[in-house]
Amino acid sequence: MAGTSGTSGAHPDAAISRQVRHVESLLEKRGIVAGAVLDEALDAFLAGSSPLNGARVVARAWTDPAFRERLLADGTSAVAELGYAAGGVQPQRLRVVENTAHTHNVVVCTLCSCYPVRLLGPSPSWYKSEAYRSRVVREPRAVLAEFGYVVASGTEITVWDSSAETRYMVLPRRPAATEALSEAELAALVTRNALIGTAEL
Ligand code: FE
Repeated sequence: MAGTSGTSGAHPDAAISRQVRHVESLLEKRGIVAGAVLDEALDAFLAGSSPLNGARVVARAWTDPAFRERLLADGTSAVAELGYAAGGVQPQRLRVVENTAHTHNVVVCTLCSCYPVRLLGPSPSWYKSEAYRSRVVREPRAVLAEFGYVVASGTEITVWDSSAETRYMVLPRRPAATEALSEAELAALVTRNALIGTAEL
């Protein structure tokens, strides 16, 4: 009786076990596929992510006034013209902020480390550091000086705080005496830190 009871008890258990294993294997298969696809997507995204992209956008803006206007009005669409569509799972808005003779822009993510990876490549460790994130908002002038960039006293500094929805990139001022340079030569002058705003050119 106990054996029968045990056997009869094992049957539904075995059926449930088979069902669970079946579901597990399906999940595993789906997991493997999703993982591979995710890896591929991440690899492709990172391979296409570099500060050279941001530099090309800047050089185009310096040499094409109509593009510059579009870039400042709607960064997301303008960089897509150059093939730099926003990556990531969530749609992100790119806002490009322009340095002028009297204003300087610097970018941070105070909450975490949001960053326009496609245009700037993987973010530097200091960008993700607690020190940068907390201090650049409170004392941008002092932080920029530590980067070796002493901002003129008459220049106003605006700090842009990134979020999951909005990423920022700085449009640096075009260096003097570069009229004769080609767009590619201009792009070569642009540094990652200038695109974040922790340097000038
Ligand atoms: Fe963040």
